[in-house]
Amino acid sequence: MSTLIFFDINGTLIRRDARTDLPYTYALNKLLGVENSMDGINTSARSDKDVFMEALEKQDRQFSEALWSEFLVLYQEQLEQFKSSDVWRENADAISFVEKLSSVLPTLSLITGELSIGAQYKLEKLGIWNHFPTGGFGEDDLTRFGIADRALEKAIAHYGQTFDQLIIIGDTLLDIKTARHLGAKVISITTGSNTKEELQALSPDMIIDCFDELPNNFINQLFL
Ligand SMILES: [Mg+2]
Repeated sequence: MSTLIFFDINGTLIRRDARTDLPYTYALNKLLGVENSMDGINTSARSDKDVFMEALEKQDRQFSEALWSEFLVLYQEQLEQFKSSDVWRENADAISFVEKLSSVLPTLSLITGELSIGAQYKLEKLGIWNHFPTGGFGEDDLTRFGIADRALEKAIAHYGQTFDQLIIIGDTLLDIKTARHLGAKVISITTGSNTKEELQALSPDMIIDCFDELPNNFINQLFL
């Protein structure tokens, strides 16, 4: 049996709080010449590029590839500045779990609304970026389902195989819906923007408060 496990980033691998997205906000403020580009925009579980589009619309600006490229340069500058700060911290026991898991199952990937550059900085800070050689990111599509489709295509190409079982681990209702879209099993973690009750209402295959709660044979348990 071959298994591919997708991780969400914010609220799952990275603890999400008001500061997590500061580099993104500062870069966008600088690009648009305003102080409040992100006010009133809900970013939870959304593609960073989709959020970018909404922020432009609020300022009556038109999207262009030139503007997007300019933003990416500013964003990387901000990511670089925040690299030595403590804004990106481990969510629950994510680091030890990913390290242990990757030693028995090397076929890991990401499904995230983060741009790949942001994902790289954040997971490098945690020391686990090297375990995710492929993934679906915020620049791949404006929707979570589209990002997931791309993530699966890329993983099949990268690992050179198809998979008998797909698993998504994430903190939101949208991660559960994305799993259903892909035909994947889903493990919900209660450390993000949705409550345990909200998550339970969509009947994820497993629900955990920290990774240590997963049984050693969870991959086989989910397959049965
Ligand atoms: Mg999340």
